[in-house]
Amino acid sequence: MTPYIIGQSKAIYGTWFYFPTYNLMFDCGDGAAYALGIHSSDVKYIFISHFHSDHTLGLFGMGSFLSRATKTVKRKIKVYYNKANQEDANKIIKALKEFNLDKMFEFIPFDFNEKIEIDGKKFILPFEVSHTAKYYKKSITACGFSICEERKKLKLEHAEKIKNLSNLDKATYMKNSLIITHNSSLYNTYVYKYVTYCGDSLPVDLEKIGQTEILMHECTFLTKAECDAAHTDLESLVKKFSSNSLNSNLFSSLILYHLSEKYIREQKDYKDIILEKSKKLNTNIEIVEINKIYRMFRN
Ligand SMILES: [Zn+2]
Ligand SMILES: [Zn+2]
Repeated sequence: MTPYIIGQSKAIYGTWFYFPTYNLMFDCGDGAAYALGIHSSDVKYIFISHFHSDHTLGLFGMGSFLSRATKTVKRKIKVYYNKANQEDANKIIKALKEFNLDKMFEFIPFDFNEKIEIDGKKFILPFEVSHTAKYYKKSITACGFSICEERKKLKLEHAEKIKNLSNLDKATYMKNSLIITHNSSLYNTYVYKYVTYCGDSLPVDLEKIGQTEILMHECTFLTKAECDAAHTDLESLVKKFSSNSLNSNLFSSLILYHLSEKYIREQKDYKDIILEKSKKLNTNIEIVEINKIYRMFRN
């Protein structure tokens, strides 16, 4: 069975998540091609949240695999990045060129208000996140992404009218209404978000993101006391996400990733601590374990 999400994440070392359903990868940290093996050739899109090396160095492995696995490059992987990161993108492109791997990729800049089409009538909506830069020389533009689909919902006035009708009467009503309205205004359209990935970020503003089926958020540290300014700790995350009663309806699963390796060194039972501390959120919590490949299956 193919997983819905496969990935790895450990703060500083590398973060990448691949979605086989959409041939899409969020970030491309070291080890992505190594872990995906032959499936690396299925990757069509890579969305880079920001250009820290733990989110980009996997491009070399992907390029290296593709250059050997395919005699002639049939298709380039589209690598999307925010146009504010052009300078950093240029550095990566230049480095890939040194290894003769740049032709495996097509680098495409996007703007925050863009809707980026991918296969299967899905699209990506990028949004800005706050990856504070206390320890970095300059502030950076960092992104999150939602995998979206446009859906239709019968307008309330029509839904009310057909509520108690038989299937045959429903069909007749719909047919007649379609003729009257010229096929157009029976439905409202809305954006359905399958997954929202937040890259490296302080706790995101859930109201801004809106409803999403799966929310993926970094959680480098377990406690606020351990946290540095550039990352997120579980306590602050839980505090922010539980501060608004609305939030409980905004996502049905929360995947936490980007954990610090120190919890392995300190032999902390970090999974139990996470589950205990996040009970308040009253949602399904998934943990991307340190040094393990994460797989999530979806019916
Ligand atoms: Zn970062
Ligand atoms: Zn990172």
